[in-house]
Amino acid sequence: LNSIKGFLPQSKCPLDREELGRSTWSFLHTMAAYYPDRPSSTQQQDMGQLINLFSKFYPCEECAEDLRSRLKTNHPDTSSRHALSQWLCRLHNQVNVRLGKPEFDCSLVDERWRDGWKDGSCD
Ligand code: FAD
Repeated sequence: LNSIKGFLPQSKCPLDREELGRSTWSFLHTMAAYYPDRPSSTQQQDMGQLINLFSKFYPCEECAEDLRSRLKTNHPDTSSRHALSQWLCRLHNQVNVRLGKPEFDCSLVDERWRDGWKDGSCD
């Protein structure tokens, strides 16, 4: 039902936790997929701050609290596009494990979020 709802007139509703999560992960992984290969030190600092600030305002309090506690020991690796994409993939997998969801193969992040699948199904 949820997948049909979005196409019906007057059915655009506020996001629930799952929809918000999907949209947010899409944004975060896509942002990492287009982060520079060789970021300046300012870009590296800014991305680190963006992720930390994001964790203070993410509008699911339980999720945000969990994220903030993870970020205390697991700092974002903003040294390159590859490093950030992999860091984010591992972070998302930790959340997947917490929620009982399957882990994602982090060697496939570029196909999922930037290049499309090698079988051409996204072309
Ligand atoms: P999602 O987990 O939303 O993933 C979307 C798509 O991303 C998947 O279909 C897959 O193609 C791809 N993907 C999956 N794993 C990875 C990965 N490791 N790397 C790259 N791509 C991947 N919900 C809670 O109930 N409790 C929480 O504490 C909680 N914390 C969250 C913290 C953050 C920062 C965010 C953004 C979301 C959080 N959520 C939390 C929401 C939760 O993670 C899911 O987004 C939501 O349950 C919907 O799950 P989904 O199965 O549709 O796929």
